[in-house]
Amino acid sequence: MNEILDKIKQFFNEKKYRYIYLIIVLAIIFIFSFSLTSSNKFSRNIKHFLYNVGQFFEQTELKTHDLRCQLPNRKIKANPNVVILSIDDTSLEVLEEQYGRYPWKRGIYVDIIEYMQAGGVDSIAFDLMFLGYREGAKDQDILLASTLGKYKNTYVSMNFDVRDAEHPPDISEALIYNVENNSPNIKFADTKLEFTNCRLIFDDILKKTDKIGIINFFRDDDGISRRVNVLFKYKDYLYPYLAFKVAYDYIQNHENPDNIDSQKRPKIVITKNNEITFFNRKIPVDNSGAMLLNWYGPSRTFLHIPFWQVIKSINDVKKGKDPLIPPEYFKNKVVFVGVTATSLFDIKTTPLDRIYPGVELQTTVFNNIIDNNSTRRAKPIVDFSICIILIVLTAVIAIKVKSSITTSIMTILITAFYIILACYLFKEYFIWIGLVNPVISIILTFTVMYIIKYLLKSRDFEHTYKLATTDGLTNLYNHRYFQDEMIRSIEKANKTKGHFTLVLVDIDFFKKFNDTYGHQAGDAVLKQVAETLKKSVRPGDLVARYGGEEMAIIFADTDLEEGIKLADNICKIIAAKPFKLSDTVEKHVTISLGVSTYPQCGLTPTELIEFSDQGLYRAKEGGRNQVGAIGELPDLKPLK
Ligand code: GH3
Ligand code: MG
Ligand code: MG
Repeated sequence: MNEILDKIKQFFNEKKYRYIYLIIVLAIIFIFSFSLTSSNKFSRNIKHFLYNVGQFFEQTELKTHDLRCQLPNRKIKANPNVVILSIDDTSLEVLEEQYGRYPWKRGIYVDIIEYMQAGGVDSIAFDLMFLGYREGAKDQDILLASTLGKYKNTYVSMNFDVRDAEHPPDISEALIYNVENNSPNIKFADTKLEFTNCRLIFDDILKKTDKIGIINFFRDDDGISRRVNVLFKYKDYLYPYLAFKVAYDYIQNHENPDNIDSQKRPKIVITKNNEITFFNRKIPVDNSGAMLLNWYGPSRTFLHIPFWQVIKSINDVKKGKDPLIPPEYFKNKVVFVGVTATSLFDIKTTPLDRIYPGVELQTTVFNNIIDNNSTRRAKPIVDFSICIILIVLTAVIAIKVKSSITTSIMTILITAFYIILACYLFKEYFIWIGLVNPVISIILTFTVMYIIKYLLKSRDFEHTYKLATTDGLTNLYNHRYFQDEMIRSIEKANKTKGHFTLVLVDIDFFKKFNDTYGHQAGDAVLKQVAETLKKSVRPGDLVARYGGEEMAIIFADTDLEEGIKLADNICKIIAAKPFKLSDTVEKHVTISLGVSTYPQCGLTPTELIEFSDQGLYRAKEGGRNQVGAIGELPDLKPLK
C-alpha cells in the first residue's frame, strides 16, 4: 500500500509528469464537454448516466423527506373540526342487510346529507363519484341530485381522463376557476395536468350543482404520495381539486364573507415564484403545479366516524330512540365522506410509512390550505448556495486545523448540525432544504482536502528528506547517506553472496585551481565534475560527496576487475571534458581514483574506505589522472 502511495507521490512530484497529468485532465474535460454537446450514442449514454445519477440523488432526497415527515409534530395539529365519515369494512358488513352490497342505492347519501345539514354541518364533501344512474333506483339518484343542488355547502367529485372520446363532454362554466398564471415554469398545457376527456357524473348532478371538485391524483415515481395538484386543465380551462375547492369556499365564507359574488368565478393568481395565491393564502407549488403535503402524523390524527354509526343514528331517530351520534354533533364540522374499507382499495402510500385512504388525502389537503402550512421546498439555487457554503466551511476547517482528528470531528459536527437544522426547519417552518447534496458536498470536500493535505505533507517530508541526505553544492548524496549506503550494500552482498566496488575520487591540484581561478570557479568545476560522475554511472550505482573535493562511487554488483575498468573509464571521461568557468572560459581538470571491492579488499566500510584511500594515494604518487594500483589483498576472515 505504502509503495503505491509512494509511486503516486513521485508521479505528482515529477515536473514532466505533472504536465502530462494536466494534459490528461484537460483532454478528459474537453472530450466530456464535447460529447455532451454532440448527439452521438456515446454522448447520449453519458447524458443518460448523468440523468440517472441525478435521479438517484433525488430519490434519496425524497427518502430523507419521508424520514423527516416521520419525526413527531410539535407545532401542527389536525383541525378537530375536520371529520372523515368513513365507509369502512364494518360499514360494508353492517349495512349489507338493509341496503344490499356496496355500492349502495343512493338514497342512503340523501339521508346522510339531510341528517348532517339538520345538525348545522359546515360543509360536506363526497370523495365518491356518482358515475351513472342506478338501474331500478333512478328516483333515488334524482333525489340525490336535487339534494346536492339544495345545499351550497355540499360537494361531489369528478375525474378527468386522457382517453380519447369522440365528443368530449362540456361541463358547466360555473365549475371553471379563473387563474392568472404569472409563473414562467408552470405550463398546464405541457404537463400531465391537461386532459381530453372526463368521467362524467350523471347529468342531473351536473345540472343541479356546481359544487364539483376534481379528484385526479398522481403518485411520485416511487409510488409514494407526497404532493397533490390543485388545478387541472380541461378544454382550455382550469378546474379545482375537490379539497381545494372546499377550502376555497371555506375561506371565503369564514374569512371574507363580503367577497361573495355568485356571478364571479373564483379568482386565483399564480405568482412568478410558483405560489398559488387567493385571499391571504399562499401555497408554494413545484414546476408541475403540485403542492407538497404537510402530514399530520405520524400518529393518526383525523377523526374517523364509521358510516354505519350515522346510518344507525338516523334509523334510531326515525324510531324515536336516542341516536348514537346526534345531528348536532356535526355542527360547524367539515365532513369528508369516503371509502376507507381495505377491501375497496382506495389507499395511498404516504411518507409516514402508513397507508392512507384517499379521503384522508383530501382532509390533509384541506387542512394544509386552511392553516396555510403546506411544505415549501427550497429552490435549487438555495440548495446550491447551501452546498457552496458547506464546501467552503469544510475546506477552511481542513486548511486551518492542523490535527486530522480535530478536522474529522469538526466535519462530523458540521454534518450533524446541518442534519438537525434541516429537520428543525422542516418540522418548525415546513421548509424542506436539501440533505443529500449538502452532505455529499461535505464528505467530498473533506475527502479531497484530506488527499491534498496528505500529498502536501508527503512533499514536505520529501523535501526534508532530500535536505537531510544530499549535499547542497553538488546535489550528490552526502557523507552520512554514503556511510548508510555502504552498510546497506554490505548487507545486500552478504544476502546474495554478491559483491560491489567502492571508488574514491579526488580532484587533482584543486587547491592550486582555487588559488588560480578563485573559489567560485572551483565550486563551478566541483559541481560539473559531480554531474559528469552521475551521468557516467549506471542507474543502480551511487555517487556521493565524501568531503571537500573528494567523491565516492558505489558500483553495485561489480567485481574488482570490472570496477577498475569502470574507474579507468571515468578517469578518461573527466580528463577529456572541458569544464566551464564562465561563458567564455573553459578549463580541464583531472582526477585520481582508488578502488576497493567487497569482500576481497575489506569487510567493513572502514576497511574498504582505507583500501580505496591507499589506492588513491598510489594514484597521486603515480602522477595523478589515473586509477591507483591495487594493493596487496588482505587475508580476511569473514565476519560472523
Ligand atoms: P591533490 O592533487 O594532492 O589532491 O592536491 P589538492 O590541492 O587537490 O589537495 P588538497 O587536499 O591539499 O586540497 C584540497 C583543496 O580543495 C582544498 C580546498 O581549497 C579545495 N576545496 C575543498 N572543498 C572545496 C569546495 O567546496 N569548493 C572549492 N572551490 N574548493 C574546495
Ligand atoms: Mg583532497
Ligand atoms: Mg585533491
